[in-house]
Formats: sequence, structure tokens, C-alpha cells
Amino acid sequence: MKKKVLVTRKLPDDAMKLLYETCEVELNPYDRVMTEDELIQGLSDKQGLLCLLTDTINSTIMDAGKDLKVISNYAVGFNNIDVKAATERRILVTNTPGVLTETTADLAWALLMATARRIVEADGFMRRGDYKGWGPMLFLGGDVFGKTLGLIGMGRIGCAMARRALGFNMRVLYYDVNRLSLDEEKALSAEYADFDVVLRESDFVSLHVPLVPSTRHLIGARELSLMKATSYLINTSRGPVVDEKALVEALRSRRIAGAGLDVYENEPEMAPGLAKLENAVLLPHIASASVDTRTKMGAMAARNLIAGLAGKLPPNCVNPEVCGKPEYS
Ligand code: NAD
Repeated sequence: MKKKVLVTRKLPDDAMKLLYETCEVELNPYDRVMTEDELIQGLSDKQGLLCLLTDTINSTIMDAGKDLKVISNYAVGFNNIDVKAATERRILVTNTPGVLTETTADLAWALLMATARRIVEADGFMRRGDYKGWGPMLFLGGDVFGKTLGLIGMGRIGCAMARRALGFNMRVLYYDVNRLSLDEEKALSAEYADFDVVLRESDFVSLHVPLVPSTRHLIGARELSLMKATSYLINTSRGPVVDEKALVEALRSRRIAGAGLDVYENEPEMAPGLAKLENAVLLPHIASASVDTRTKMGAMAARNLIAGLAGKLPPNCVNPEVCGKPEYS
């Protein structure tokens, strides 16, 4: 008999096809986030849940899914799921690492370039018909080539940023709770430094950490005060990694030169004043949003779910200790 699964938002066709072939699918009929009540009701007879980073999956929701065996997240970050509660209930949790690394780094790089060279401001200027001819002081920005890139979090995406920096002849500093091997550092021309040193010496600080308790407000007023007045902050990780109110103040007072953001502390809201600042480039959480990558993420999330429901250890399981029990092979 096919296992019953709840899919909280329509995914790319390949993923939906895989799911319909293998499972009995209940799909959120609306193009919006499901409410907690809808999740609770929808999970009452399901063995599997395929959810998104916009779904908060807490213990109450898990308890509503009496038969729930697998939660497959359509994202590499899984801060939206209470993994501890899932593990206690012997529910497998999976994510989609790797397939979105380069696409996310591409977007972080686009934000870095757009922020430094004031691309969005200049585009608006053209569209308003304000361009009256070349001027020596028109839209002066910051250089990228030859500058220092500071990476906070040197995992998959952080390393992909370092590889891009090689082509721009940049000095790369990084901080991570886990240092790379010397060979890896050499290959990326990346220097390990203390957190504060990365903030002080970088022209661009780009964040690539997961959202966990130790990274919440990792960048606040103190950290922003350490950064150069000519530097830029790029955040494609998770919004709460940055104290957004403190960032608005730093941008408004020109404590730092600019920021490029894909993520926000209370999505989809933005901190008061942020949208008015010309030295911020603001994107609606689209770092992994390429057709190819979203297709790959969908297939990976579907395969993770199907494997877990078949009693196997899914390829991208974040709490494999659940499989230590005899029920799983
Ligand atoms: P990863 O696990 O490969 O790398 C994360 C790195 O952060 C690891 O090296 C880890 O040691 C380090 N780290 C953890 N805590 C730290 C701390 N307190 N200080 C410094 N370093 C710390 O993950 P990844 O695939 O590179 O993805 C990173 C994050 O990017 C994800 O968790 C996700 O939240 C975010 N992301 C966002 C988007 C988007 O759409 N904007 C897309 C993809 C990923």
C-alpha cells in the first residue's frame, strides 16, 4: 500500500511526479504557507511530510502526525524544524545539501557586486529618466577586484564564494568554528582568522553559517562597529543571524557602506526603515532560485522522503541516529 504524504506547497514537476508515482499525496491546494491548524489536520493520517523553510515544524505539529516517520525539508537549512523533538519521536529529518551550493554562491556574488557598484540604484536612475549624461562623480561605488573578502562560515557555500574570489584576485579571510585543512586553505588561497579580525580587515563580509543558537544575532551593533566604514555586509544565510535593527542603524549612519540581503529576521517583514535605505540591495530570499537548482532540490527532497518511508536511511538525513533502531535498515 502506498504511504500517505503531505506536501505543503507545489514543487517542480519532476519532484511531484516522483511523489505521485510512489506515494498517496495530499498537496496544499493554495499557493501560500499552510497554517498550523491545516498542518495539524493534514498530518493526522500521514507517514511523510515534505515541507519548506517557511513551515515551522514544532513538537505540536509532530504529535498531530501519529504515524509520521519522515520530514523532508526542501532546503539545506533546517532551522524551521525542531530536530531534537523529531529525534525523540523517532522521526527522520532530511535536507537538500550540495545541489544549491553554486547557485546560492552565484547570488551572494551578485549581491556583492550589485551593492558595491550600486547597480540597483543606478538602474532606478535610468528608468526615472534622470540620466543627463556621463559625470565624473556619478554613482561612485566600491571596488571588488583586489579587495578583501571575509567569509563567516566556510562550509559548502563559503568555499564556493572563496573559489569565485580567486577570479577577482581577492584576499580571502575566513572564520568558522571548524578550520579547513591546510591543503584546503591553500587550494582556496584562504586565510583563517579570528572572527573579529575578519570583521575588521574585510571590505566585504559574507555570511554562510546555519541558523543555530550560537549564530543568532552573530552580527549585531558590536560586530558592525568593528567593520570598516567602506565595507559591505552580504547575507544569504538566514535573517536572524543579523540583528536587523542594528544593521539599519549602521547603514543609516554610514557606519558601513552598504548591505546586500536575501534573508530577513522576520520574513517576509523587514525592519522599519530598511526598505528606504539606498545603500541596501534587498532580495526576496531567492538565493537557490534557479530552474535547474530548484528542480534538483525537489528531486532530492522527494527521494529523501521516499527512502525514509521505505525504511531506509535517506541519503541526506540530519538525524541518522533515529536509524540506529531495528525498524530501519
Ligand atoms: P554548511 O553546513 O556546508 O556550512 C556551514 C558552515 O558554518 C560550517 O562549516 C560550520 O562549521 C559553520 N558554522 C556553524 N556555526 C558557526 C559559527 N557559530 N561560527 C562560524 N561558523 C559556523 O552549509 P551550507 O550548505 O554552506 O549552507 C549554509 C547556510 O546557508 C544554510 O544553513 C542555510 O541556512 C543558508 N542557505 C540559504 C539559502 C538562501 O536561499 N538564502 C540557500 C542555501 C543555503
